[in-house]
Amino acid sequence: MLKGIAASPGIVIGRAFLLEKEEFYISKRTIDPADIKQEIIRFRKAVAETREEMDGIRQKALKQLGKRHVRLFDAYLLILQDPIIRNDVTKMVTEQKVNAEYALQTVFDKITKTFNIIDDGYLRDRGRDILDVVKRVLKRLLGREREELATLPSPVIVIAHNLTPADTIAMRKENVIGFATDIGGRTSHTAIMAQSLEIPAVVGLKNITKKVKLGDTIIIDGIEGIVIIDPDSETVENYERQKLKYSNVEEALKKLTDLPAVTADEHNVELHANIEVPEEIPSVHAHGATGIGLFRTEYIYLNRADLPSEEEQYQQYASVARKMMPYPVIIRTMDLGADKFVGEFGISPERNPFMGLRAIRLCFRYPYVFKTQLRAILRASVEGNLKIMYPMICCAKELRHANELLEEVKNELRKEEISFDENIEVGVMIETPSSALIADILAREADFLSIGTNDLIQYTLAVDRVNENVAHLYKPLHLSILRLIKRIIDAGHQVGKHVGMCGEMAADPSFTKILLGMGLNEFSMSPLSIPKIKKIVRSTSLTTARELANQVLATSKEEEVNKIIEKFEALP
Ligand code: PEP
Ligand code: MG
Repeated sequence: MLKGIAASPGIVIGRAFLLEKEEFYISKRTIDPADIKQEIIRFRKAVAETREEMDGIRQKALKQLGKRHVRLFDAYLLILQDPIIRNDVTKMVTEQKVNAEYALQTVFDKITKTFNIIDDGYLRDRGRDILDVVKRVLKRLLGREREELATLPSPVIVIAHNLTPADTIAMRKENVIGFATDIGGRTSHTAIMAQSLEIPAVVGLKNITKKVKLGDTIIIDGIEGIVIIDPDSETVENYERQKLKYSNVEEALKKLTDLPAVTADEHNVELHANIEVPEEIPSVHAHGATGIGLFRTEYIYLNRADLPSEEEQYQQYASVARKMMPYPVIIRTMDLGADKFVGEFGISPERNPFMGLRAIRLCFRYPYVFKTQLRAILRASVEGNLKIMYPMICCAKELRHANELLEEVKNELRKEEISFDENIEVGVMIETPSSALIADILAREADFLSIGTNDLIQYTLAVDRVNENVAHLYKPLHLSILRLIKRIIDAGHQVGKHVGMCGEMAADPSFTKILLGMGLNEFSMSPLSIPKIKKIVRSTSLTTARELANQVLATSKEEEVNKIIEKFEALP
């Protein structure tokens, strides 16, 4: 039995499919003659990036270990310059019109055969060096999608060292019934994506890939964050019972779907849904959400070689807007970067990506991409009740600049006589300490605020949200976080603005009363979580919740917070 971090709820029992960290499934694709040049550029870029990466490691080794120890890296760099690798691959792509991965793999297989014929230990080792280099280039070429995830033959539980959000979205629910990874955190986008796909998952297990073999029976308990390898029949029966119990509880909660989210003393609260893909809309309705508080729009950019067109984005937004009518839909402009890396922009992987060129920063670097998205949103705004929200705003100037670009797009549309909602609301995500501390200024210039606690907590407490080693330090109830949240809500209310929360904190029933008591207007979360939060809202009175919030905010002892929460738990 291994204990990890519960990432996505549910219990599943199935067979393990070990996704080897370095194994690649290379498929052969025919390249259109017009795209051959582009394919070669893609290959050269992957080689150049690998060289940069190796050079970086070499510099580090040189500094830390001295000259004698960098010969291996020199050899690697020479392999990358080798004409066999460079020219033969380009030649094969050009002449046979095949994809670069396939050409590289074929050329490499030829080299390996030659090395294997010669019975010489030294040369065999060099063969392994070439394999390592080739794998690094392949990894970059394939970076965005591990093809095998989309094509698994039968229902399996995927065991992997790491799964990126792009890997996760490539999973087909029929084939992947659950997953478990060595690394990762509760609020990573991989965990969030698993909830969207309703795939039970446990992350941060540290070494599960070393303990599981292909075909092992595995139990994933995504509620408790437990994985059991090769369980005995008694354990399987026990988990079958728990699975049933869990689905009964879920069914019972679903009875609340059509009931309003009002407190026991008749105060309305908005319970909205977070979605990652439009396919989630039926689940949004089935769980009784009365709006979408966060549409993460990044996924349309992942697992593809080009950028999504304005039309493609428009179709998505218009369809979501129509299906959600008359409820509001907050479209968060794209938040690429950090753990949702895209090679398309030609940016090398960053050393500290969560603090790098992410979200609105990336949009400002590529205004064309940003404006294309804004145009798509504005065009779709006549189809329903759409709102725009900017992520990762750190200062008022960024909000103003984003609005300037929005204004430019509006003017273009006006000139083209394309209609859009002239009164479309524009909100700001508060997910950095800087924006939290100037929430009063931002609130004056925005139509609404939404607290992104996933990032707010990681940046305030300096705890990487995807790093299992520091997961125990990721504390939503840290006094600093509680104070910041209160400050943001008050700042919004002082100028009559609506304040929501779309981070995972809004989905955790243990925080519902405190947040209610602080005056939060809207809770937005994975559709699956809505019924259980509604149950708490309906059984709590705002007066009690306010008292709880006051007591928690007044304490100076971290350890007191949970005691106060417990004291109020049974109170209506
Ligand atoms: C957040 O940071 O809380 C948030 C909702 O945005 P994301 O999880 O997509 O970073
Ligand atoms: Mg965020």
